[in-house]
Amino acid sequence: MKFYTCREKVGPKPFRIAIIGAGPAGLAAAGYLACNGYEVHVYDKMPEGGGMVAFAIPEARIPINSVRAGVKALEELGVSFHFRTKVVHDSPKELGDEWAEHFISIERLLSEFDAILIATGAWRPRKLKVPGAELSGVYDALRLLHDIKLARLGYRSWKRVPDLKGKHVVVIGAGYTAVDVVLEARLLGAEKITMAYRRSIEHSYAKNEIRKYVREGVEFIEYATPVRIVGSGEVEAVEFAKTRIVEGSVVTTDEKFIIDADIVVYAIGQLPTSPIREVICANEKILQDAGIFFAGDVIAPRNIGVAMREGKAVAQKIEKWLLEKAPKRVFPVALGVRLIGGALGGRC
Ligand SMILES: Cc1cc2nc3c(=O)[nH]c(=O)nc-3n(C[C@H](O)[C@H](O)[C@H](O)COP(=O)(O)OP(=O)(O)OC[C@H]3O[C@@H](n4cnc5c(N)ncnc54)[C@H](O)[C@@H]3O)c2cc1C
Repeated sequence: MKFYTCREKVGPKPFRIAIIGAGPAGLAAAGYLACNGYEVHVYDKMPEGGGMVAFAIPEARIPINSVRAGVKALEELGVSFHFRTKVVHDSPKELGDEWAEHFISIERLLSEFDAILIATGAWRPRKLKVPGAELSGVYDALRLLHDIKLARLGYRSWKRVPDLKGKHVVVIGAGYTAVDVVLEARLLGAEKITMAYRRSIEHSYAKNEIRKYVREGVEFIEYATPVRIVGSGEVEAVEFAKTRIVEGSVVTTDEKFIIDADIVVYAIGQLPTSPIREVICANEKILQDAGIFFAGDVIAPRNIGVAMREGKAVAQKIEKWLLEKAPKRVFPVALGVRLIGGALGGRC
C-alpha cells in the first residue's frame, strides 16, 4: 500500500515537523514532507503504523504485509517513527491506549518542532444508548474488529474474541465497519447474520458490499432502529422500532418487532480522538498560526483515499506556512501552548 510516491527527494530544509498518528492521513503527509526535505517524526500509540487499516480493517481485505511495505517505504525515505508513544494533552482514555508505553505532551512537541500535524483519527466508538446495551453478548463493532485483528496479527490471544461459531449475529448499522463485522462473523463461523439499518440500503455507502452479502444469505432489514436489547444477563433478542425518513431525518414510529439474537454488534459511528479536545476549529487560522494542523478522520469521517489526499494537502499547507511564516511564528510557542490549553475552550 503506497501512502506517498516520492519521485525525487529534495535536499534538506531547516524545519522539523511532528505528526501525531500513523494512519493514512499522517503517513501521506509524512511522505510528502520527507520527500520535500523536511525532518519528519511520526508518533503513534500503536506498535506499528497503518491506523485503522492495520488495526481494524479485516486482514482478509487489506493484508498487513501491504501496510507494512508502505510504512517501510516511508522509513527508507527518512521518516522517523516513534511507536507505542501516545501524545497527550487533555485526551481521555481511548481504544488502543493499552499499547502506549511512552507518553509525550503536545506542549513538548510544540516546543521541539516547527509545526504539528494532528492525524489521530476517530478511535472512540459511539455507544449504543438503549436499555440492555450492557448485557453480555453486546459488542461495539470497532472494539470487536480491533480485537479480532490483534488476534489475527498475533499481538493477542483469541480469548477476547467471542465465539461466533453457530451463532445468530445481529449487526446494527450499514457502514464500512458493519460490513466488516459481517465479513469476520462469516469467517468465524456465524450461522446466521442479520443486518439492521435505520435508513434504506440505498443510503449506505457500502451498499454494493451489502447487496453482495444479501445475495449470499445475509438478512438485511431496512428502516429499523434498536430500542431495547432483551435478555437476562446474556442477550437473547433485540427489539426494533420501524423508522421513516421525514425531510431527510430518521423518525422512529410506534411499530415494533423483535428478532432473536445470540450476539449483537453495533456499528453506529466513531468519535474523533484528538489530543486537543476542540477539533471543530480544525485548520482554523488561530491554530495554524500556532503551527497546529489537522487531517483525516479526526476532523470528520473520511475514507482511506480521502484521508491520504487530505494528509498530502495539509502537508502542502504546512510547507507554505513554514516557508512564509514560521521564521517569525505569528504566535510564540508559549502562546500556542496556552491556546490549546484553554483559550479555545469557549470558542469552538
Ligand atoms: C472497520 C473499518 C473499515 C473501514 N473500511 C474502509 C474501506 O473499506 N475503505 C475506505 O476507504 N475506508 C475504510 N475505512 C475508513 C478508513 O479506515 C479511515 O477513514 C482512515 O483510516 C482514516 O485515516 P486517519 O489517518 O485519519 O486515521 P486512522 O487510520 O484512525 O489513524 C489514526 C492513528 O492515530 C493514532 N493515534 C490516535 N490518537 C493518538 C495519540 N494521542 N497519540 C499517538 N497516536 C495516536 C492511532 O493509533 C492511529 O494509528 C474503514 C474504517 C473502519 C474502522
